[in-house]
Amino acid sequence: MDTQKHIEELLKSHKLKKTSARIEMLKIFMNYNHALSAREVISYMKIAHDRVTIYRTLSSFEKHGILHKASEDSNGIRYALCSHECPEEVHTDEHVHLICEKCSHTYCLEDIKIPKIDVLEKFIAQKISYTINGICNSCLAN
Ligand SMILES: [Zn+2]
Ligand SMILES: [Zn+2]
Ligand SMILES: [Zn+2]
Repeated sequence: MDTQKHIEELLKSHKLKKTSARIEMLKIFMNYNHALSAREVISYMKIAHDRVTIYRTLSSFEKHGILHKASEDSNGIRYALCSHECPEEVHTDEHVHLICEKCSHTYCLEDIKIPKIDVLEKFIAQKISYTINGICNSCLAN
C-alpha cells in the first residue's frame, strides 16, 4: 500500500476527515524514524498552515490513538506514530523511549516494554513513561 493510501485508510479508521493538513502531517511523521515536535512539523510542512491548526491536529491525533507523546522538554512535546492501533483515549503502546544526547532526537524502542512497577497504595498511576538518555544508532555510526 502506498503512503497516501495508507494515510487515507488510517484517517478513515479513526473517523477523521481527510484534510490537506492532516495528510501532510502524517506523511512527515512517516518520513522520520524519530519523534517530532510541533515546531519541527511546522518547519517540514510544504503548505503553510497556521500554528493553531498544527497544534490542534497533533492533539487530536493523540486523542485518536494515531500519535503518542514520546518525550517532553523545553522544546515542547515530541510526538511519534503509534505502531499499532491504539484504542481512542487509551494508548497501549507503553514502550521505552531513547533520547539521544548528541542529536537530541527521541526514538521509540517499541520492542522494549516498560517494566511493571508497583505503585504505592496511596497513589494512582495515570501515565507512565520510561526514558533512556543515550546515543542513537545514526550518531554512533558517525
Ligand atoms: Zn498509541
Ligand atoms: Zn543521535
Ligand atoms: Zn514511542
